[in-house]
Amino acid sequence: MGILFDDFRSWKSYCETHNLPLYQPVLEYEMEQKGRTEAEIWEHIQKAYRVMCEAIQTGLTEDMTSRSGMVNNGAKKVFQSSVAVLSKEFQALIARAMAAKEVNSCMGRIVAAPTAGASGILPGILYTLQQIHHLEDRKIWEGLLVAAGIALIIERNAGIAGAVGGCQAETGSAAAMGAGAIVYCLGGNIQQVFNAVAITIQCTLGLVCDPVAGLVEVPCIVRNASGVAIAYSSAQIALADVDAVIPVDECVQAMGEIGQSMETRYKETALGGLAATQTGKAIAQKVLVQDVEILPDETT
Ligand code: SF4
Repeated sequence: MGILFDDFRSWKSYCETHNLPLYQPVLEYEMEQKGRTEAEIWEHIQKAYRVMCEAIQTGLTEDMTSRSGMVNNGAKKVFQSSVAVLSKEFQALIARAMAAKEVNSCMGRIVAAPTAGASGILPGILYTLQQIHHLEDRKIWEGLLVAAGIALIIERNAGIAGAVGGCQAETGSAAAMGAGAIVYCLGGNIQQVFNAVAITIQCTLGLVCDPVAGLVEVPCIVRNASGVAIAYSSAQIALADVDAVIPVDECVQAMGEIGQSMETRYKETALGGLAATQTGKAIAQKVLVQDVEILPDETT
C-alpha cells in the first residue's frame, strides 16, 4: 500500500525497517494515487524529465524575451559569457536553471516542480548532474521520485506556494528537492540526503515572494539560479557528513512558522519588497498600460 509520510523521520524509518531505497515508497504512493502501473509511472517520470531537458534546450537556443521587457535572453548571455567565475560546469548549471525558467516566463512548456515559479531548478540540477557524473537515466528518474517525496512532506507541513509561504516555499522547496536528489543520485545515505534538504531550507528560510508587476519574471529567474547554487553547496556539505544540527523536520516546521507569520504583501501580491520599489512600480505601470492598449476598443 502506498504511504504518504507525515514527516522525514517516518520516511527514513520505513525505508530502514523494510530495507528499501528512498524512492520506493514514493513510487508506490504515486501508483496508488494515480491508479497507474509501475511501468506507467516510470514512463510518466521519463516524460517529465524529457520536458525539463527540452525546456533547457529551448531557453538556450530560442528567443526568450517577454512582453514586459524584463526577460531578455539572460540564460544565453550567461551560457556564452567569456568569464567563468568558478568553472564552466557552474556557469552551465546557472544558465540551464535560468533557461528553463525563462521558458516558463515566456509561456513555454515546463514541468512545475514543485511550481512554475521554480521550474528551472530541478532541470538545471539534474541535467548538469547527469552530464558531469555520467549517470544512467534510471538514476535520475529515481532522484526525481526522491525529490517528489521531499515536496510532498514539505507541502504537508509548510507549503510549496509563494502565495502561502513566500519564495522560501517555492524556490526554497525546489532547491531542497534538488539537493536531496543530488545526494541520492551520488550514493549518499538517507541521513545525508535529509541533511542536504535541511541545510538547503536553512539557507532559504525567510525568502519573500515579491514578483515585480506580479509577473513571474523578476526576481524569479535569478532565484532559480541561486536555488541551484544553494542546492549544490548543500549537497556538497551533506555528502561530507556535515550534520545539519537542526533536523530536517524541524527545519520544515520553521519554514511553516515563518510562512504563516509573513505579511500578505510578501506572498505573491506584488505589494512589497522588489515589487514595491520605485522601479518595480514603474514597470508595473508600464505593463498595465500595455494591457489596456491591447484591449479591444468597445466604442467602435
Ligand atoms: S518570487 Fe514569488 S513568484 Fe517568483 S519564484 Fe519566488 S515565490 Fe514564485
